[in-house]
Amino acid sequence: KNFSALEVTEQYLKNIKEKNKDLGAYIKTTDDIALAKAEERFNDKAIPMAVKDNINVCDVATTCASKIFKSYIPSHNATVIERLNDHCLLLGKTNMDEFAMGSSNETSAFFPVKNPWDQRRVSGGSSGGSAAAVAADLTCFALGSDTGGSIRQPSSFCGVVGLRPTYGLVSRHGLVAVASSMDQIGTITKTVEDSAYVLSKIAGRDKKDPVTTSNKIEDYSAALKGEMQEVRIGLPKQFFTDYTHSEINKKLNKAITTLEQLGAKLVEVNLPHIPYSVSAYTLICAAEAWSNLARIDGLRHGEKTFEEDYLKNSIQSRTEGFGVEVKRRILLGAYILNSSNNNDYYLKAQKVRTLVKKDFQKAFQQCDVILGPTTPSTAFKLEEKHDPLTMYLHDSYTTPVSLAGLPAISLPCGQDSKGMPIGLQLIAPAFSEGILFNVGNNFQ
Ligand code: GLN
Repeated sequence: KNFSALEVTEQYLKNIKEKNKDLGAYIKTTDDIALAKAEERFNDKAIPMAVKDNINVCDVATTCASKIFKSYIPSHNATVIERLNDHCLLLGKTNMDEFAMGSSNETSAFFPVKNPWDQRRVSGGSSGGSAAAVAADLTCFALGSDTGGSIRQPSSFCGVVGLRPTYGLVSRHGLVAVASSMDQIGTITKTVEDSAYVLSKIAGRDKKDPVTTSNKIEDYSAALKGEMQEVRIGLPKQFFTDYTHSEINKKLNKAITTLEQLGAKLVEVNLPHIPYSVSAYTLICAAEAWSNLARIDGLRHGEKTFEEDYLKNSIQSRTEGFGVEVKRRILLGAYILNSSNNNDYYLKAQKVRTLVKKDFQKAFQQCDVILGPTTPSTAFKLEEKHDPLTMYLHDSYTTPVSLAGLPAISLPCGQDSKGMPIGLQLIAPAFSEGILFNVGNNFQ
């Protein structure tokens, strides 16, 4: 039976009503908008979607899961929303780590997102709401943002497909910026095919985001049908270490065997500077976040408790409005950009970034796609990781891709002995999402 847009929408809204109270995946649902559009599209196709709450939808609050944005209502659509408007309808805005800073969704100022596979565990972050919503059938697909792993890591934790496109493939106009040299909007879906479909709608030049490419976009539906013969899969030894849980390594090895049986050639590659990625990422991310968040002074985004003294007002809003993790990064950014420290931290981090990029360039002379884990462990328990450094290290396998601006996809590849999903990460050269869809679809 072919379901109408209205029937599908009503079913998702019912699922949300039943499960969202426990999971906390949505901050806000937009039932009226969804139903009105579904009715209008009764005989047509309109795909229900969820949108991370740092992507602007006109006339719907954007909170970034922060108290400081609690009354910010944007007056424009993000470019991705404009591009999806003819194909999709909005079910609601999804929960996230505050200002996309975090790996567990516990830094949301409202409530954490619980993992649909085991509600004692985290959903991952920062796009945890989007990943949990897809995993729990609270939407057909979701948009997320990935600066250092925020699409791939929660997708891995929730057993769904998470794509971080190449830096510059998808417009960020209307995305609240954290670290502009790495921020990227991407998709969270159940299948590789869905990911390719949504990407084909949102990719491409937008003059409102000057880093977007003018190149012709690949034909992703053709890529999905690609064969595996002659595909060279690079295996870097830096991705297969004891730091990763042994059950994950085991499942990855099984996946590698499957891919080899499908016709792929395996190649050993070397990415010697990968181990320095988290350090470089943490510094660059903090420096850029400090700069981007400077404009959030409590006056421009709805919180107009204006006192005559601008500085006093701004300090008070920021003190009350930002959570601990956001403040930690603002302070770190301010510290490393202080003129007396400039060369010690920020420039060194940029040099590491160049080395990581060169590692990938060299590796891609020998292979078409690189394979590794998405995360060193599966979803951990809520409130388990108190130490920020331990949390940052959790991004060891996702941050190198962000530093290099490359596309990567996280695919489900089995479960650990506790029944939690394991993610496999495929990385491609810039603007080669097609090979990710080719290998991903053959594997899935
Ligand atoms: N977990 C990473 C961080 O805390 C990634 C965040 C992101 O990609 N937005 O920075």
